[in-house]
Amino acid sequence: MNSPLDQEVTVLKGIGDETRAQLAGMGIHTIRDLLYYLPYRYDDSRLRDLTEVEHDERITIEGKVHSEPSLVYYGRKRNRLTVRLLVGRYLVKAVMFNRGYLKGKLQPQRTITVTGKWDKHRQTLTCNEVVLGPHEEIGDFQPVYAVKGQLTVKALRRFIKEAFETFSGYIEETLPESLLEKYKLAGIADALKFMHFPESGKEMKQGRRRFVYEEFLLFQLKMQALRRTRREGTRGVGQNYDLHKLKAFISSLPFSLTNAQKKAVNEICFDLKSPYKMNRLLQGDVGSGKTVVAAIAMFASVTAGYQGALMVPTEILAEQHAESLQSLFSHTDLSIELLTSSVKGKKRQDILNRLRTGDIDIMIGTHSLIQEDVDFHHLGLVITDEQHRFGVEQRRVLKEKGESPDVLFMTATPIPRTLAITVFGEMDVSIIDELPKGRKPIETYWAKHDMLDRVLDFMEKELRDGRQAYVICPLIEESDKLDVQNAIDVYDMLSNHFHGRFKTGLMHGRLPAAEKDDVMKAFSKNEIQLLVSTTVVEVGVNVPNATFMLIYDAERFGLAQLHQLRGRVGRGSSQSYCILLADPKTEIGKERMQIMTETNDGFVLSERDLELRGPGDFFGKKQSGLPEFKVADMVHDYRVLEIARNDAMQLIESESFWKDERFSSLRNHLEESGALSEEKLD
Ligand code: ADP
Ligand code: MG
Repeated sequence: MNSPLDQEVTVLKGIGDETRAQLAGMGIHTIRDLLYYLPYRYDDSRLRDLTEVEHDERITIEGKVHSEPSLVYYGRKRNRLTVRLLVGRYLVKAVMFNRGYLKGKLQPQRTITVTGKWDKHRQTLTCNEVVLGPHEEIGDFQPVYAVKGQLTVKALRRFIKEAFETFSGYIEETLPESLLEKYKLAGIADALKFMHFPESGKEMKQGRRRFVYEEFLLFQLKMQALRRTRREGTRGVGQNYDLHKLKAFISSLPFSLTNAQKKAVNEICFDLKSPYKMNRLLQGDVGSGKTVVAAIAMFASVTAGYQGALMVPTEILAEQHAESLQSLFSHTDLSIELLTSSVKGKKRQDILNRLRTGDIDIMIGTHSLIQEDVDFHHLGLVITDEQHRFGVEQRRVLKEKGESPDVLFMTATPIPRTLAITVFGEMDVSIIDELPKGRKPIETYWAKHDMLDRVLDFMEKELRDGRQAYVICPLIEESDKLDVQNAIDVYDMLSNHFHGRFKTGLMHGRLPAAEKDDVMKAFSKNEIQLLVSTTVVEVGVNVPNATFMLIYDAERFGLAQLHQLRGRVGRGSSQSYCILLADPKTEIGKERMQIMTETNDGFVLSERDLELRGPGDFFGKKQSGLPEFKVADMVHDYRVLEIARNDAMQLIESESFWKDERFSSLRNHLEESGALSEEKLD
């Protein structure tokens, strides 16, 4: 701790109280902070051939003062200094505003370097920056730092330069020699030098490369340490399931598992058997068959003498899951029950009793499952579907109902690999990236709003064939009220349009839960043919007879979300259609609509969405949970992220990492991050 780098910035010349306060406002207190305050971009100040420069381009030129400069005053303080410069074979004019004080310094024959905007027609440069010396003195790239208040980038550059000149000898290496060598990374002092004072594009890249790797490695070390603490610090139960029965059950299913399902089942079963607690995310696109994987996992747990619980976010989903599990288990002697807030009185008491005695093997429910009076006999496996819908707290309560049950989270949001290994870095992830054979891909079309009449004709044709349709209205983030109003307007319009022929229902977030369920039930029984809804139907609902979906203002949704919505159709054997009604104004907006019509692969879409919108927007504003990196970019540097992840895994698992002096600075970092102590876990 007692490094000279921990001294306050005021030890530097020219930093008094005022500057100190300004720097403090930017989080810079010590010399170390200053040295590690990295530029976020560089101005290119490489010399250019004037004949190749476009009009209005920002350029840097070096030239010899050709003749005495002329100074013109206008107003009291304002002036214009004009000087002719010989640049190679060309004579150009350099104009400087309000820099009259330079006049005496611009003697003929002196070499200066100026940066500014080039007027090609007048052969004139309007200067922003003037350096009274050759180009060498500034170099090819000028670092640009984020500054606040009065502090200028120029001043900050000067402070950093001075700090570096005085203190660079004290900078400590964080990465072990072996890793530096393995990837030919610059040592820390060089890397900092390259970042702050690059002499070439190559140096700039070298500097950045090291910090990208370092940031990712430190982050992944933290994630892997967390993962390990969770797994091994929390001893679960080794569930000795009956492999024979499990195999028999799997072969009794009405279909054979896809390879991706088999792989997920294996990964989960391995976790069940191990004495460590499972903490696993099961990702699979809509319709990829997660439910049966969940069923197999719970079956395994039951053969080992435990109970399984499946928690889903809505009542209707709970009912649907209960139905499909009951049919999957119909030829077994497993006892499966459903618990939601509609299960009341004696029935509820009865279920609770049987749950307590272990008579019920598999419990399916909404958050009713986490109420206080719900006790399990021997809970071994907890599965939550659409896990992002549940808060951390709810998941924790359910987990605590068993001694130390294994936990599986299922989600149909295909999370791009990059985000999966950052946001869910401390979990194990299984991915079902393959759909069962024989699905008819949904046909998706993009229509402009002025084509609505034709779209409605198309919809009518489907309805006349006995099919049902969803109409999705956009979510208006700023206003819940407008959101609902929107849906009501569309509902009025459509129920008018189809009046006397088809029945229209309305669904939005403001409806009471019971009413929502009623509408959904009416729709699934085909008492309603057309369902106008906000995005509340997004999750898991299964009405196979619905083959048509119209999405209003589709450009307002993320691609991943559009894909989720679209997954409500295409669940039966008939051809399904999805129409995106949108007039996107930007090129990116158009591209996004186009992509939707081209692919049905949720992973492809989510990767594209991430590229187009950036990681911050991926999960929506409310819940990002994304780590922030100073230099690294999760999307563009994702190969490095993967490499760093592998390295981190190996390090954490190796004995030398925890003992060896070489790794002490990495260990210190980990300790400071809190990843090694259990209390910080949810
Ligand atoms: P999701 O992953 O969206 O929850 P489901 O589990 O609801 O998907 O499965 C969608 C449909 O696919 C269900 O009707 C299910 O019975 C069926 N299914 C699941 N796995 C297979 C498979 N391997 N082969 C054929 N059909 C399958
Ligand atoms: Mg599902």
